[in-house]
Amino acid sequence: MNSDRTLESSPRRGSARAQLDGASLTVRAHTRHPESCRSGPTAPEPKRSAQTRGVLSGLRFLIASAKNFDKFYSDMVTSRILPISLEIKDRIFSTLSLKPPSTHRTFEKFLAVLTLLALVTLTPASTNAANTRSKKAQPRALAAQLHNSTFDDQLGPAYRFNWNGWIYVHLQGAPHDIGVQHGYLLAPEIADAYGAVRLEMTHQSNRNWDFFRRAAQQMLWPKIDPEYQAELQGIVDGLQDHGVKLDLWDIVAFNAFSELPDYYVPWLDRRTRTEIPHAFPSEGHCSAFVATGSWTKDHQIVMAHNNWTTYIEGARWKIIFDIVPQKGYRIFMDGFPGAIASDDDFGVNSAGMMITETTIANFEGWDPNGKAEFVRARKAMQYAASIDDYVKIMLDGNNGGYANDWLLGDRKTNEIARFELGLKHYKVWRTTDGYYSGANFPSDPDVMKDETTFDPVNPATGPNARRIRWDQLITENKGKIDVTLGEVFLADHYDTFEKKDDPNKRTLCGHGENQREALPGSTARPYDPSGAVQGKVMDSQMAQAMEFVARIGHPCGTNFDAAKFLADHPEFSWQSPVLTDMDAGPWSAFRIGQHAQPPSDPDPAKN
Ligand SMILES: [Zn+2]
Repeated sequence: MNSDRTLESSPRRGSARAQLDGASLTVRAHTRHPESCRSGPTAPEPKRSAQTRGVLSGLRFLIASAKNFDKFYSDMVTSRILPISLEIKDRIFSTLSLKPPSTHRTFEKFLAVLTLLALVTLTPASTNAANTRSKKAQPRALAAQLHNSTFDDQLGPAYRFNWNGWIYVHLQGAPHDIGVQHGYLLAPEIADAYGAVRLEMTHQSNRNWDFFRRAAQQMLWPKIDPEYQAELQGIVDGLQDHGVKLDLWDIVAFNAFSELPDYYVPWLDRRTRTEIPHAFPSEGHCSAFVATGSWTKDHQIVMAHNNWTTYIEGARWKIIFDIVPQKGYRIFMDGFPGAIASDDDFGVNSAGMMITETTIANFEGWDPNGKAEFVRARKAMQYAASIDDYVKIMLDGNNGGYANDWLLGDRKTNEIARFELGLKHYKVWRTTDGYYSGANFPSDPDVMKDETTFDPVNPATGPNARRIRWDQLITENKGKIDVTLGEVFLADHYDTFEKKDDPNKRTLCGHGENQREALPGSTARPYDPSGAVQGKVMDSQMAQAMEFVARIGHPCGTNFDAAKFLADHPEFSWQSPVLTDMDAGPWSAFRIGQHAQPPSDPDPAKN
């Protein structure tokens, strides 16, 4: 089949891009027009048959777009000008030319257009069904959104619901369809997250947004697999259907928010500037462990991870993705709205791979000819059936971006691994009886020496202090570790340097808002609002059922009050347009195929 081929991916240079800076974010009300999402509302035509409407609409666009046939063709391929599914369109293109629509020549494009118009004319049933569905969908979608309930049937099997601080989305189908579902269902959250991330990326790097758009278009896009190009374009199309006008380069740059500012920019600065105004050795993100064999209660795998990031991002890192792709394995992971990879990286696939990571602090390295990390991470989550598969996919086109210590488990073999991935070096440790922890410290001497400025000795650094704490907790609890203890570990506030409980940037549950002085090896200022923003735990049995527990907000349950923080710390006022409260939720179990639960059932996933 051909569903993962590149769909025409016009960046829509001609369309006005939404100005979504900081607090001025707005998302237009859902205005969906079944025959076009770009031409504005059309007058109702109640007396015309579905066939006539289909042909007329097609001809209308053909005439209107005659001066720019390529754009018309692109719109037709990538959006739903004609009321038939993209899968059917894709099959037609395949039959016509046996190659991707993006490479069609003009004659083949005309042939495709005529065939699609003929198909609409000759299939009244499907056309009627599509039109009926579109008409019914709008009020249902709005009603569903207002009530935080499952979405309509407009997007086929896709749906969303909100629960305990998280937004659960189920996406299913061909790559472009998954993207459309993602963009449409999460449009308000993506618009909001885009504004927040854009402010962060431009503020930290001292570069404007066009710089990142250019990097996305010229450096990243050509190496992105066609499958994920189609999905990214789908997100843009789904957003457009929901009235959010972000284009392809906005979305690609946004997806690279973990790698462009902290990896590409420092690399570029070292080559182009004699004086480096903003040296940002990559900060550490996340605390995690994976254990197996005699270390755990049932001698199977237990994996836990809390996401460390800025609270700007953390308050928005609240999506549970259940993705059923056409190819590869089903994915169940946490994630960020609009991002195709988990990006804080916690998830399980239907081949039994349990996946998480923590970053390598103070890492320096970037290969502009490599493949974006967010693409490789998503691909590995989707296609790896073994630890070896995982390593192989991540190494293919390694660009050095978002360099991590990957913690992996294969529930089929009960084996776990730490896969430390630098740019020049990598190393894999694996065992069926042991544990690996992650707290942003590198372990391979070559990675440490050649690719970082990391100091492995100083006990006052965040990574070293947390590494010691992981060893203490896991050793003290050898043979007892289970999901419940995983939750306790992620909420731990013991500072091994101060030798007392003191939630700060040296504790497994990180609290930058309490960090009174800058820590060695870190560029973060005192009281920087960053740290642990949510946590997840799973064991082998949960992995088999494709389920995990998750808690939004600080894993210890402490709330973060943005207004109070900004009043106390005006030095962070630049964040005020996008810094929001982080209210901690309860630990909650999520599983694949889950639907919204009635209010009377407060903890349904544990049934
Ligand atoms: Zn805490």
